[in-house]
Amino acid sequence: MKKWKLIILTGILLLTGCQSKTPVTKELFAMDTYMTMTAYGKDAEKALDQAAAEIRRLDQLWSVGQEKSEVSQINQSGSGPVSPETGELMDLSLSLYEATDGALDITIYPVMDLWGFTGKDRKVPSDEELEQTLAKVDASRIRYDGQTVTLEEGQGIDFGAVAKGYTSGRVMEVLAENGVTGALISLGGNVQCMGTKPDGSLWRVGIQKPDGGEGYLGVLTLTDKAVITSGGYERYFEENGKTYHHIIDPSTGFPADSGLTSVTIVSEEGALADGLSTACFVMGKDKAYELWKKSPDRFDMILLTEEGELYITAPLQGMFTSDMEFSVLEE
Ligand code: ADP
Ligand code: MG
Repeated sequence: MKKWKLIILTGILLLTGCQSKTPVTKELFAMDTYMTMTAYGKDAEKALDQAAAEIRRLDQLWSVGQEKSEVSQINQSGSGPVSPETGELMDLSLSLYEATDGALDITIYPVMDLWGFTGKDRKVPSDEELEQTLAKVDASRIRYDGQTVTLEEGQGIDFGAVAKGYTSGRVMEVLAENGVTGALISLGGNVQCMGTKPDGSLWRVGIQKPDGGEGYLGVLTLTDKAVITSGGYERYFEENGKTYHHIIDPSTGFPADSGLTSVTIVSEEGALADGLSTACFVMGKDKAYELWKKSPDRFDMILLTEEGELYITAPLQGMFTSDMEFSVLEE
């Protein structure tokens, strides 16, 4: 090869090398929340466009606010066919219903509606209304054969507790298929990351304080994981001086009051992390710990109690740093 050709070739390589060292960022509003995505790779821009299109597609399947969504159609007619993605969410949700003793129950929808969390007018329901509506909540009464879902009269489903985690997992696949070498996305605070930055460094994910205070509960340094947090601070309203938030305990119909103020789940599986963050928030520390001990290789967690005690499961040691004191939960 002639020398000048070599020079041009190296020049081009350097140029493309430079390009993929600069991250591409995309922001969007979907699934009722703000999302930001950052990716490295020479086709990162195209990859993020495809990821955004995928997010909007999934949103249209599961939005309870859109009449034409697959979930709304099922809720309206009591029965309907499901797409493969909805089928996957259904399988996961039903298995988590079993594993969490009903703490995660996608048939919570009529109760969410009663509290007004699905619309604008939020209110504390009367005991009678709550009792009647709660009688419909029971995921074990859903009939699902892998293709069609059939609900009982008065039942409704809502994938709000698992949809964003499923979506972040799906986004990682889309980005990887498009040659992205490193990415960090946040779907309304639900984070998932893959690969590394061009210099080989890992991602740093700060865990928000539930009181909105400065700084973080702690910072995780990691990759190829979803880091998903549930707390009562994200969506709530006040009535007569009391605060009511959007994670409902299916055994009472009231906002979960388990003694935890924040639950973060770390897992390779986004949808699992999301479902478990909601469920563990309902279950409280002791039951969440019991659940973790049954399958410590599938997920880890960071728990904060009302008393301000911070706990992490043992495998997170080494990737978690915090200014606060914390205790380690062992297997
Ligand atoms: P966020 O969506 O705010 O990140 P979560 O993942 O914890 O938080 O999901 C909360 C949503 O899950 C609620 O808005 C509601 O749609 C739904 N939900 C609330 N309580 C339950 C429950 N016990 N089981 C299943 N879904 C729930
Ligand atoms: Mg969740």
